[in-house]
Amino acid sequence: MKKCKICSNRFEPTRSDARYCSNACKQKAHNLRKNEVQQADAPKLVFYHDEYQEVCNMFGLDYESLPFMFYCFLRKGIPLKATVQNVYDYINSVWHHNNYDQILKTNAYRNFIEDFLGGEFIILSNKS
Ligand SMILES: [Zn+2]
Repeated sequence: MKKCKICSNRFEPTRSDARYCSNACKQKAHNLRKNEVQQADAPKLVFYHDEYQEVCNMFGLDYESLPFMFYCFLRKGIPLKATVQNVYDYINSVWHHNNYDQILKTNAYRNFIEDFLGGEFIILSNKS
């Protein structure tokens, strides 16, 4: 008897190198490996503090009105190479069409904050 590496059920292997009890578990293992590879390959998102400060200045906002994490959440919606003006325009339009409090309550934002606090992103002080 062997123990399945996915579901931990014991099974009688048909081959000596069998690691999974069923095709379903074999497929699951395959998908897990694929996800791991994709995650490792995916570039981490990068955010810049100086860009954030410039955008805050353009809005005439202090840093509490536009928290850095919220800025990053919106910032990830546009390409990294976007200019400060692009970022300002984008955030301005999102902000205009969505209620700030509503965005804070979304699962997308909650997940983002979890990743953010979990160190999933790269924060640099200077873009230039
Ligand atoms: Zn199994």
